[in-house]
Amino acid sequence: MDPFDLVVVGGGAAGFMTAVTAAENGVKKIIILESSTKLMEKVRISGGGRCNLTNASWIPNELAENYPRGGVKLLESFNRFAAGDVFDWFEKRGLKLKIEADNRVFPASDSSLDVINCLKKNAITKGVKISTKFFVKEILKTPENLFTILDSEKNLIITKNIILSTGGHPSGYRLAKSLGHSIVRPVPSLFTLTTKETKLNECSGVSIKNIDIEIQLNNKSFKNRGDLLITHWGFSGPVILKLSSIAARELFDQKYKCTLIVKWSDLEYKDLKEKINNFKLNNGKLNLTNLRPLTLLPKRLWLFLLNKMEIDKDKKWSDLLANEREKMINILLKDKYTISSKGPFKEEFVTSGGVSINEVNFKSMESLKCPGLFFSGEVLDVDGITGGFNFQHCWTSGWLAGKAVSKLFNKVTNQ
Ligand SMILES: Cc1cc2nc3c(=O)[nH]c(=O)nc-3n(C[C@H](O)[C@H](O)[C@H](O)COP(=O)(O)OP(=O)(O)OC[C@H]3O[C@@H](n4cnc5c(N)ncnc54)[C@H](O)[C@@H]3O)c2cc1C
Repeated sequence: MDPFDLVVVGGGAAGFMTAVTAAENGVKKIIILESSTKLMEKVRISGGGRCNLTNASWIPNELAENYPRGGVKLLESFNRFAAGDVFDWFEKRGLKLKIEADNRVFPASDSSLDVINCLKKNAITKGVKISTKFFVKEILKTPENLFTILDSEKNLIITKNIILSTGGHPSGYRLAKSLGHSIVRPVPSLFTLTTKETKLNECSGVSIKNIDIEIQLNNKSFKNRGDLLITHWGFSGPVILKLSSIAARELFDQKYKCTLIVKWSDLEYKDLKEKINNFKLNNGKLNLTNLRPLTLLPKRLWLFLLNKMEIDKDKKWSDLLANEREKMINILLKDKYTISSKGPFKEEFVTSGGVSINEVNFKSMESLKCPGLFFSGEVLDVDGITGGFNFQHCWTSGWLAGKAVSKLFNKVTNQ
């Protein structure tokens, strides 16, 4: 049996980018082995079916800042293939893209299927073979520096180079470990938070722009600012997802029990006190329900907060007592919620953890432990915040690995 030049384990975004790049750069015998019946399933469901495939963050240093884990190493990779390169790569292959106001990049058609079709078409026209329902169970390295691959039915494939693009699937970590790699404990990242404050569900659907929030746990504090969404179980929105990513490991260790502090007002204590005193003075006849000290607070949320402050919503501003004013200031500046768990749905977007980045060359994505073995995508201990950064890492690592395999291939064939 003639060996393959490259076997790609995993038919996701990273696997396809690796296969297409290698094929376009001269590598001849390539096969993608995918355990399920579906190719690039996560691409399909991503971004609500629209696929936020990268972010218009063109400067490599700035791009790398969006990865709570792996950012420094990634800079080596982004200096070779960053967000602008990804943008051009897809457009050159016929996929029209658009940049939204918040810098997220989507297909102009708003359909993730177009991203899938672009990658699939380019793989097939370049002769990449695809085998679905092939679960790679075992990989062995032979004394001749080849890899033998076995599935559950003991079907055998032999290859000169292999890439693990298995995402967050435990089998990928097991395979990497069997080839000499250490695995950083995988934990979920990018999730919402559930609070015990059941009455908050009265505000479900309320979203507020540019809010400072803080997570306190185990004597540590994590802060961020961004848009917040109240759900019927607790908190979501970009700022929560971002903070869940930054504190992913610590939250996992504490079983997601922490305190969330929301700062509803940007004002300092002194200025907020003055503002409330002016309300009492100038708008004393109006009741608390009808005049909110912070216009950004929707009425539903303001009523919920008044209830939490234990202040009668029908009270007139002029009747607000000094101790009630202090309670109001405290809650508007430091509103605390007990977080009991992650959100109730399995909405984790990425896995934090995976193959240790210290054991991989980030210019070629080749293993430093086992020559001929490569990695791309989520299988590595790299994860980004929301905004297209996780796919960006898949494209970059996939492209670098594809290029590196083609370099090896061309060196051998030109000898
Ligand atoms: C709901 C959702 C929405 C998301 N939205 C976005 C977004 O808009 N933008 C963004 O940047 N990121 C988004 N992400 C994250 C992004 O989808 C992932 O970072 C990305 O898909 C990882 O790609 P991958 O190719 O590394 O792994 P995967 O997409 O997980 O692909 C790995 C493949 O390997 C296969 N496999 C695993 N083990 C084996 C084995 N032993 N043998 C054979 N095959 C195997 C799996 O079946 C799978 O098909 C989203 C994630 C989710 C879950």
